[in-house]
Amino acid sequence: MNTAAPHAVALRVENVTRTYHRKGRNVHALAPVSLSVRTGEFLTIVGPSGCGKSTLLQIMGGFDQPSTGTVTTSTGPVTGPSRDIGMVFQRPTLFPWWTVEKNVAWALRCGGTGRAEARRRARTLLELVGLQGFEDAFPSELSGGMQQRAALARTLSLEPSVLLMDEPFGALDAQTRELMQEELIRIRQAAGTTIVFVTHDIREAVFLGDRVVALSGSPGEIALELTPDLPRPHTHEVMRSPEFLDAYEAVWACIREQARPRATAAAGSAQATEDGTA
Ligand code: ADP
Ligand code: MG
Repeated sequence: MNTAAPHAVALRVENVTRTYHRKGRNVHALAPVSLSVRTGEFLTIVGPSGCGKSTLLQIMGGFDQPSTGTVTTSTGPVTGPSRDIGMVFQRPTLFPWWTVEKNVAWALRCGGTGRAEARRRARTLLELVGLQGFEDAFPSELSGGMQQRAALARTLSLEPSVLLMDEPFGALDAQTRELMQEELIRIRQAAGTTIVFVTHDIREAVFLGDRVVALSGSPGEIALELTPDLPRPHTHEVMRSPEFLDAYEAVWACIREQARPRATAAAGSAQATEDGTA
């Protein structure tokens, strides 16, 4: 459980840009982006494919360095990956030759936890994500949703102060995806984790986020920020509420508006995001 002050900042992104160099050209993936993630918050970042969501998340996690700007946590600048910031990817990255329990316990063992304690905690976490009874299964014996739960348990085992999730349900079928969204809300309430969740799906972003940040693309920058404040209980029923529909419409209108001039410009000229000055 998080014990920090309710409005403490867990992660701060300040004026972050990222320019890639590809085939002699500069690709400006992120314009200056600044945002703060509050402790205990569930922040969703939504935007069309290619707008820089993964780039931003990778930089937040220390997996990539910004071209300019800084990322800091309460303990200092983020200069590389650390166990304080956990990452869950679209495809679960489990070791196929180990059981689910061993996959989770392995992360704990790497962190110095003793064998028996790692096993005990792995079992508790697998119960938290709804995988009790599957401790001895191998990843190939599980469905995509179950594999993603196991990957989530493994990341949570390190008790990161911030959990970054990059389209984690993108590879799941629609029904499993809805179930996983509700499960994630439950798990987050139980674990008290601060979450930054990236998706291109506006419904998913509005449903999950305490706060939703919409990125416009090429280069990615913050186009809109809103707090949906949906009715409780937080189940898919709320998708029929006026609060949900208003927030969905606002994000959709913003993304549509941002995409229109680019689509027109792109039809007649080279990509506005690239220049030849590398
Ligand atoms: P999203 O996750 O929103 O789909 P990305 O962050 O993956 O977007 O990509 C943003 C932009 O940066 C895209 O134009 C993409 O082609 C470019 N890009 C991402 N990674 C690299 C890379 N390693 N090298 C060159 N360009 C990249
Ligand atoms: Mg991406």
